[in-house]
Amino acid sequence: MADDCLFCRIVAGEIPATVVREDELTLAFRDLNPVAPTHVLVVPKAHYPDVGSLAAGDPAALTAVHLAAAAIAQADGVAAGGWRLVFNTGRDAGQSVPHVHGHVLGGRHFGWPPG
Ligand code: 5GP
Ligand code: ZN
Repeated sequence: MADDCLFCRIVAGEIPATVVREDELTLAFRDLNPVAPTHVLVVPKAHYPDVGSLAAGDPAALTAVHLAAAAIAQADGVAAGGWRLVFNTGRDAGQSVPHVHGHVLGGRHFGWPPG
């Protein structure tokens, strides 16, 4: 656990969150400010700052994050309609929490390219 990391503290149960799924390697909880009817954040329980460092440091956890995302899309009823998994990385992408998290987004149409 990284000191003063918001998502490490949610994983540790120190900060409340609406948890929708948990397994050995990941935790998933609803985003506080959803931008779509389904907006769930999936994080590895271990602290990695971004998706590249997670891929390099723990490929099994990266896979687990993707499997969790697919399971959440299924459980939330958006799998058939389509959904998006977004990993913002760094300032220009708008990453505001430096603990890697995948945004599972669904329940409405998303344009391309993203704004
Ligand atoms: P980012 O901008 O880093 O890609 O995404 C961070 C996300 O975390 C944002 O969508 C924001 O709404 C969400 N968020 C920030 N603080 C909290 C919190 O305390 N609880 C939850 N559930 N979501 C949060
Ligand atoms: Zn962390």
